[in-house]
Amino acid sequence: MLKICLFLFFSFYLSAVEFTDFDSYQGAVTRAQLEEKMALFLKKDPRIEGYFEVTDTALNVYNALPTDATRQLEYSLKLASPDSVVPVKGRPAKSLLGLKVAIDPGHLGGLYARLEERYIDIPASLDRPQVIQFDEGTLSFLTAYYLKTLLEKEGAVVMMTRDAIGVGADNQEFFEWLRKNPDVWVAQTSLRTLFRYFNHVDLHARAMKINAFQPDLSVVIHYNSHHAEGGSSNSMVTPNNFNMVFIPGAFFGEELNEKQSRYEFMRLMVTDDLAHSLKLGEAILAQFTTNLGIPIVTKNDNARYLDGACLKISEGVYARNLALTRLIHGPICYGESLVQNNADECLNLSRRDFVIAGIPCSSRVKQVAEAYFEGIKGYTLNLSQ
Ligand SMILES: [Zn+2]
Repeated sequence: MLKICLFLFFSFYLSAVEFTDFDSYQGAVTRAQLEEKMALFLKKDPRIEGYFEVTDTALNVYNALPTDATRQLEYSLKLASPDSVVPVKGRPAKSLLGLKVAIDPGHLGGLYARLEERYIDIPASLDRPQVIQFDEGTLSFLTAYYLKTLLEKEGAVVMMTRDAIGVGADNQEFFEWLRKNPDVWVAQTSLRTLFRYFNHVDLHARAMKINAFQPDLSVVIHYNSHHAEGGSSNSMVTPNNFNMVFIPGAFFGEELNEKQSRYEFMRLMVTDDLAHSLKLGEAILAQFTTNLGIPIVTKNDNARYLDGACLKISEGVYARNLALTRLIHGPICYGESLVQNNADECLNLSRRDFVIAGIPCSSRVKQVAEAYFEGIKGYTLNLSQ
């Protein structure tokens, strides 16, 4: 019952996708280009090949694995001849005037920080006499707000997926959503599980809002945390501090069993979105390093998800198939700056030496916003090089 209700919700939030959207790419990409993208960005798991077939003349998409009796050809894209040269198209610009930027401040924050388990609450100790408390959804919102101000000063047109702390896309509030959708909670599921459902719906709504805006580029703003010896990353410090960014890609086989996912995979195969996301990601990551004085993540940091769920594209830039990296169209950088529960960084981030949107906060947030801004600017102005 619950599964049926959720399916209906998700169907409502997902736009109906049609492979005919790719008709304009008929004969426009080569087999070599597709195979390079597949190997570099897309294939985390060989089982994805069951859904796709690349020949000298066509890219074929199937709705199921070869072992499935219901398997049918879903779409066929004719390929360009092998000697065609298809350059990556850029949009070189002299300024940010008119540049359309979408910003997604990760999580909700505020009242919901505990429920979404994105908070820092480090008790006082001999090293730190004061209790340290803040939450990621608030940091990401304030970073996004300040970044929007910086971009708008230069003439960019900016859209944020949420306008306040403690709300999701279109300023939807969790308990309001539950009130509107009693069928979801009538099955007496735990509040935490219900929140996860809301989160799933909310992420899709954020992506749809961004795609409707048709931005030139998108950034998704998060702050990282890292496992701590002997306890929770919410309340224990770690000596590690680093930056990384995610871009689309790294698909697992079972992730292609939905039509929407196969559609997004196809989009990543035929458009320049991966190449641009890589350039944008590298530009922003470089600014994280210089502006924040914190290095790029390394193998020694032992962030296990980087091996388990990602493909390394360049130092600190990882393809990862998250809902937002998959669903948002166009160049996208999903930033994971700083480790919130690092022993020094937690002090930096909990300072109250600056004000954004009337809310006292840390000037570290301003620095992070400036890093995104410089990265976006560098990417946009240097596209032609
Ligand atoms: Zn996050």
